[in-house]
Amino acid sequence: MDRREHYASLGVSGEVFDFGERVLRELEPRFRAADEVAEYNQNKVLAAMKKHRVSAACFAATTGYGYNDEGRDKLEEIYAETFHAEAALVRPQITCGTHALAVALSANLLPGDELLAPAGKPYDTLEEVIGIRPSPCSLRENGVSYRQVDLLPDGSFDYDAIAAAITDKTKMVEIQRSKGYATRPTFSVQQIGELIAFCKAKKPDIICMVDNCYGEFVETIEPSDVGADLTVGSLIKNPGGGLAPIGGYICGRRDLIDRCGYRLSAPGLGQEVGANLGLLPALYQGFFLAPTVTAGALKGAIFAANLYEKLGFAVHPNGSEPRHDIIQAVTLGSPEGMLAFCKGIQEAAPVDSYVTPIPGDMPGYDSQVIMAAGAFVQGSSIELSADGPIRPPYTVFFQGGLTWYHAKYGILLSVQRMLDAGLIQL
Ligand SMILES: *Cc1c(COP(=O)(O)O)cnc(C)c1O
Repeated sequence: MDRREHYASLGVSGEVFDFGERVLRELEPRFRAADEVAEYNQNKVLAAMKKHRVSAACFAATTGYGYNDEGRDKLEEIYAETFHAEAALVRPQITCGTHALAVALSANLLPGDELLAPAGKPYDTLEEVIGIRPSPCSLRENGVSYRQVDLLPDGSFDYDAIAAAITDKTKMVEIQRSKGYATRPTFSVQQIGELIAFCKAKKPDIICMVDNCYGEFVETIEPSDVGADLTVGSLIKNPGGGLAPIGGYICGRRDLIDRCGYRLSAPGLGQEVGANLGLLPALYQGFFLAPTVTAGALKGAIFAANLYEKLGFAVHPNGSEPRHDIIQAVTLGSPEGMLAFCKGIQEAAPVDSYVTPIPGDMPGYDSQVIMAAGAFVQGSSIELSADGPIRPPYTVFFQGGLTWYHAKYGILLSVQRMLDAGLIQL
């Protein structure tokens, strides 16, 4: 089989294919390293499943109150074990990552408490959760104040300002691992550990919460390994392995997780209620596949960075930097660039490949957003997707790919569409 002709039949011209192959040859050591991390994490998940004696009985559907749901409880123990945390809350009643973060924050902050973001502004959707943008039911409306210390111009932590910002009122700090829709670097787990140690040295009882979205299984350790009291994320990103149709997780200290349970359901009920509605097979199997799926997405991100860097675009992280999440930012410099890029990603999708992405308004975001996604799970961003707010410098955030081959095809098609639109030269 001639691969070049095969790709041509799929809409990728010979010159784009050759360009991809040239770049790929240089990436072999990086891909091997990603595979080794996946191997380690696969064994970590497997060991947790073995230790907690997963059996077919764990997959039974429950309805109604969901009392004595052994499969649900065991899945939470497996998450806690894998993350080396005391306890976990993992269930379909947590509707998304923002919800998981909102539960973790509002369960553990009381009127008069202050939340500190020591590493810059949190993710866009948290602005309304916190009340940075006025919003009904925000923390602010409930008497929780907010303080923020921005990163230094070189992207490092401003330790002097952080020390000054931690007061008697500071109950909790929120650290976001991934860059999200910003152009700052993503933090390594080790860096996060250093920041947590610094905050705890200043105030030992401070609660450190890490927004771990997009970071799970990219490294061999997680924030919970370096002192995070709460580690939070979404199941339609890395840890759901593409199979979880909904859900979020919160791992951490038993007492804090108990409170999250009370906030999620009701005081007095906590983790005891919450039927699994037949979703446990997907949640278990997705978690089992998550290390491999994450590695595939990581390879896609590395490939995209190297291709677009060679085409002269600013990419974050750059082609050779170490990775701490699966997001690849590519600054295309124009709305036309964002449209062409997203068109290519969309065309490569197994679902909705025939639609053309156009910018639109999104709840929680303050500018129009373009999204390319053709996912089995709506909005899933562990599946191949590209999105970004339509505002200068016109950066798309590319992520996911349940398999490396799909990610590769999507990236090659994005280059093809950029070429077709006259935005690049090979
Ligand atoms: C995706 C994401 C969130 C929010 O998750 P949703 O599931 O979209 O609500 C929060 N923080 C970061 C860093 C994210 O990437």
